[in-house]
Amino acid sequence: MEQEIAVVTGANRGIGSGIAAKLAALGMTVLLGARDVRRGEAIADDLRATGADAYALRLDVTDQDVVQAAARWIDERFGHLDVLVNNAGITGSGPVDPADAHDQVPSSVDVDMVRAVFETNVLGVIRVTNAMLPLLRRAKAARVVNVSSHGGSVTLNADLSGPLAGLLPSAAYLPSKSALNALTVQYAKELSADGIAVNVVAPGFVATDSNNHTGVLTVAQGAEVVVQAAIGDATGGTAAFLSADGPVPW
Ligand code: NDP
Repeated sequence: MEQEIAVVTGANRGIGSGIAAKLAALGMTVLLGARDVRRGEAIADDLRATGADAYALRLDVTDQDVVQAAARWIDERFGHLDVLVNNAGITGSGPVDPADAHDQVPSSVDVDMVRAVFETNVLGVIRVTNAMLPLLRRAKAARVVNVSSHGGSVTLNADLSGPLAGLLPSAAYLPSKSALNALTVQYAKELSADGIAVNVVAPGFVATDSNNHTGVLTVAQGAEVVVQAAIGDATGGTAAFLSADGPVPW
């Protein structure tokens, strides 16, 4: 079988580094996207020291030229791509527990902050996916996995006394993940004709810099369901919103 190639965006720390490590341990060639390529190289070096086939890839999801250059490099070196994990994301509020993101409350939010969050979490995914699509189309059964959040579920948010009741209302991060969910379904619809599965995953509340390490899961635990979707095992299907506990309501 042809060696599988995977790209993980935002792989230099947090859940992305955990996803990269697990995909590499499964035998894939893993390209660790990092906007500061030296920080990606540090992780790739560690993985190669364990026998993995891992390389850093300069990839800022907000920079069209950089994204195109990354796709060209993969094309020249490998000629195809089997797995794309769109993991890179920002909260917009810096490293705080999402329950404390007071600056995202809709009535007082800074529109520039909303724009920056959507630029990375939504437009970044379109930019990277579209640049990688010619390579994904050359794979046998490519998989795209978008890393979302339970907080992206409109259904759970609309249940005002439900499990997300403790989160402050947000006009930035949470709607950016709802938009990512909606986008995932539209890509799945278009790309099913090409045999490309597109799913979205909620990793759970993982202790990383993004929440000042208040999360309850380890990076390895959060990465697991993403990896299941990336290897095509979680549903074997497309257009699903998945978590470790099963499907999440849209
Ligand atoms: P971290 O803040 O730990 O890591 C974020 C990663 O994204 C870093 O590698 C960062 O790079 C990268 N990144 C940010 N902006 C860009 C950009 N413009 N281009 C390329 N890379 C970029 O976050 P987590 O690991 O916690 O989160 C990873 C994903 O999981 C995100 O999409 C997040 O929304 C989602 N998620 C996380 C949860 C959690 O509990 N942690 C819960 C639900 C979802 P750099 O080091 O250069 O800043």
